[in-house]
Amino acid sequence: MEHFGIYGGTFNPIHNGHLHLIREASRLLSFDRMLIIPTNIPPHKAPEDLASNKDRLEMVRLAVEGMDKVWVSDLEQRSKGRSFTILTLEKLRFLFPESRFTLLMGADMLCSFDHWHRWKDILRLADIAAFARDEGEEAMLEKKAAALGRAKVIRVEPLPLSSTMVREKLRRGEDVSGLLPPAVLDYINRKGLYKA
Ligand code: ATP
Repeated sequence: MEHFGIYGGTFNPIHNGHLHLIREASRLLSFDRMLIIPTNIPPHKAPEDLASNKDRLEMVRLAVEGMDKVWVSDLEQRSKGRSFTILTLEKLRFLFPESRFTLLMGADMLCSFDHWHRWKDILRLADIAAFARDEGEEAMLEKKAAALGRAKVIRVEPLPLSSTMVREKLRRGEDVSGLLPPAVLDYINRKGLYKA
């Protein structure tokens, strides 16, 4: 049975913390494929510092180019309205009826998981692998995962890095070359994204 890792997010922009997680989770969980799925944000709902669907998708593509078994999907961006994980999973189940799905999410996402739209249905379709984003979050994560049932915690060294941090540094004109792959930084500069 094919095992898919599914990693969704705004990726505004994708950064080295995301990429480190993609590599480590693939290694630990031996996925046959890993799908990276940037969210859809309808233009009229987009906050000012949110890059367009197209730009965020393109930056993800550039970042994972050449990575084995990693696929970028525009499934959510092609659908109308807000991205709901359950709808994405239902589409994937339809496309790949025999596959196993594991949703990857950081501690921040796992903590709010039981408020997600139809979260119990999500747990019927997928396992969850959660990971810390900061030192010392593991005990809390283990407790939360045990309460949900079909969730487990994977040990990935957290890189204390966020897209918010990257955007703030770019706005201040600071060097972010250590936080993003060169191709993504080049794209940001060419397109003039995240300027003050
Ligand atoms: P923002 O700062 O704009 O909220 P973010 O850096 O948290 O962005 P998202 O695109 O919102 O990134 O996150 C997508 C997924 O990546 C989430 O599951 C989130 O927990 C995870 N993630 C974010 N930063 C890291 C990191 N440094 N290491 C591992 N996973 C991360």
